[in-house]
Amino acid sequence: MKKSNWKAILDAFTGPAIEYLESLPERRVYRHAEPEDIRAIVDGPLPEHSTPAEDVVADLGRDLEPFVTAHSSGRYFGFVIGGLHPAAYGAELLTSTWDQNAGLYAVTPGVAVVEDVARGWLLDLLDLPRDCSVGFVTGGQMANFTCLAAARDSVLRKVGWDVETDGLQGAPHVNVVVKSEKHSTVARALRFLGLGHASAIEVPSDRQSRVDVTGLRATLGKLEGPTVVCVEAGNVNTGSFDDFVGVADAVEAHQSSTRPIWVHVDGAVGLWARASEARRGLADGLDRLDSWSTDAHKLLNVAYDSGIAICKDASAHQAAMSVHASYLIHSDTEGARDPMDWNPEFSRRARGVGVYATLRSFGRRGVAELVDRTCELARGFGDALKETGKVEIVNDIAFNQVLVRWLAEDGDHDAFNDRVIERVQHDGIAFFSGTTWEGMRLMRISVSDWATDEDDVRRAVDALLQAAAAE
Ligand SMILES: *Cc1c(COP(=O)(O)O)cnc(C)c1O
Repeated sequence: MKKSNWKAILDAFTGPAIEYLESLPERRVYRHAEPEDIRAIVDGPLPEHSTPAEDVVADLGRDLEPFVTAHSSGRYFGFVIGGLHPAAYGAELLTSTWDQNAGLYAVTPGVAVVEDVARGWLLDLLDLPRDCSVGFVTGGQMANFTCLAAARDSVLRKVGWDVETDGLQGAPHVNVVVKSEKHSTVARALRFLGLGHASAIEVPSDRQSRVDVTGLRATLGKLEGPTVVCVEAGNVNTGSFDDFVGVADAVEAHQSSTRPIWVHVDGAVGLWARASEARRGLADGLDRLDSWSTDAHKLLNVAYDSGIAICKDASAHQAAMSVHASYLIHSDTEGARDPMDWNPEFSRRARGVGVYATLRSFGRRGVAELVDRTCELARGFGDALKETGKVEIVNDIAFNQVLVRWLAEDGDHDAFNDRVIERVQHDGIAFFSGTTWEGMRLMRISVSDWATDEDDVRRAVDALLQAAAAE
């Protein structure tokens, strides 16, 4: 075998990596750059000849680092982007080092078992039925896709149609019911599945973006045939949770052999409420539903990218995802799990290993504390801003999300809001992103990093007030 100078690669990597990680507490979180600024440094013709690998790595560490956004800084509150737990980081380094193709047990038994252990821990932590199936996917988008593929399989199979074999051509119509404030990835997953999103029936949401259960009941009452319903734990704007008990009751009242109903919960952020005693009540009744998607790279702080798809009906999940080919070696040994049966990828990264390491390091209590701390910091953040009299807090802070409306002296709150966000992003002390909600331009605060502390919140509040004063 050809020898490589692995030590030179690690040496080229370790210095910049340590410097970067240690700079996080004080580092600028974001640097605005035009594409040509970056191209001026990284672009050029495709090299004709080879360059030593360690030189490429050293150059990348030097060239790209100034443009990197500090997502794992405690002062990054944009979108819903999680930080980086050290155990997740270490596990990802190992996973890259081992370069495992984790598609089949027979190809790599060790990581297949570790992923299966992570599956069990997740179901225990989230208190979902312990025989649920779990797919480790790239994120919430693919988790929604995977769960909705299982949903499509199940409701059609119950009316005698095998969608895996026969597709949707000539299939019975599948009703899809969504809430008006659904996440865009739900609509996108429906698109990928040939169900379309414009044809989905929209049930109104209330002022906190929760699905109107009376409206859902009325909608279900009018429908015939196989039906898929999508609800949500942790709305991307308000952080609110749907009334899962109400949803489960409505579905049970309308479910029948000719009207099979599958309810999917998009729990990208909110599913973790199940891990906290204090916040579990938000997710009551959720275990009565059929599938759940979540992200490990958001609140759990596993490295990007990592999402989780969970289904109560493992056979529907497997039917939707599994693949057989003459040259593959499928395992039928008890406890030998083939990851490719549960996710849309074929060859794949061993994503569950980072989940395993992070859960092992946090422990049950650590995850609960993480959920509680991020939610309490979000509330403290909202309170601190509200006290200044310069903003209105638009949502009930139920979880880790705060919706802020900056109040402009000239009355043009929308424009002022966008200017404050832009200025604070440019200043680089903290990062926030905006949204349009109920026709208003607002600023979102999302506390999703295990590393965020009170001091980060205080500094971010100061940065925001300074930006607002300068506008
Ligand atoms: C972030 C998010 C998603 C998408 O997750 P990705 O990991 O970005 O694919 C889906 N639903 C909700 C509610 C989210 O917050």
